[in-house]
Amino acid sequence: MEIMENCIFCKIKDKQIPSFEIWSDDKFYAFLDINPISPGHTLLIPKQHVDYLFDIDEKQYSELFMTARKLAPMLKRGTGAKRIGIIVEGFLVPHAHIHLVPLNQGNQLNPANAKPMDKTELAKIAERIKNVL
Ligand code: AMP
Ligand code: ZN
Repeated sequence: MEIMENCIFCKIKDKQIPSFEIWSDDKFYAFLDINPISPGHTLLIPKQHVDYLFDIDEKQYSELFMTARKLAPMLKRGTGAKRIGIIVEGFLVPHAHIHLVPLNQGNQLNPANAKPMDKTELAKIAERIKNVL
């Protein structure tokens, strides 16, 4: 698949840069955010490079959200969270992505709560979630 030069998420889905993969198929890739709002905070991306979420063609857009719907119960089970929340911003990385964030209380879904997580901890959480899948 075509890779957008200098796009960090294109490099991640092509495994040129390591990531904590949760799940993937031929069109989408899900991996842990390295600065999570909560444990299990996942980024779901289309493998095809498009910057802005609402520029994705209709079919792929529906498939992206159907994929989020499929992953959410697995993230919920893998983390024990009460709900999975969604954020879309995209100011830092110009490759469309949906943040899927495990939540246990109101007002937790706030990017200001994001902080770097240790790689060992990320690896452990990724394994836990993948075991549910
Ligand atoms: P935004 O574009 O504002 O939605 O934010 C991009 C998100 O990508 C942030 O939450 C970053 O922590 C996350 N991020 C950036 N680089 C990586 C990476 N190499 N692996 C995982 N997550 C990343
Ligand atoms: Zn890209």
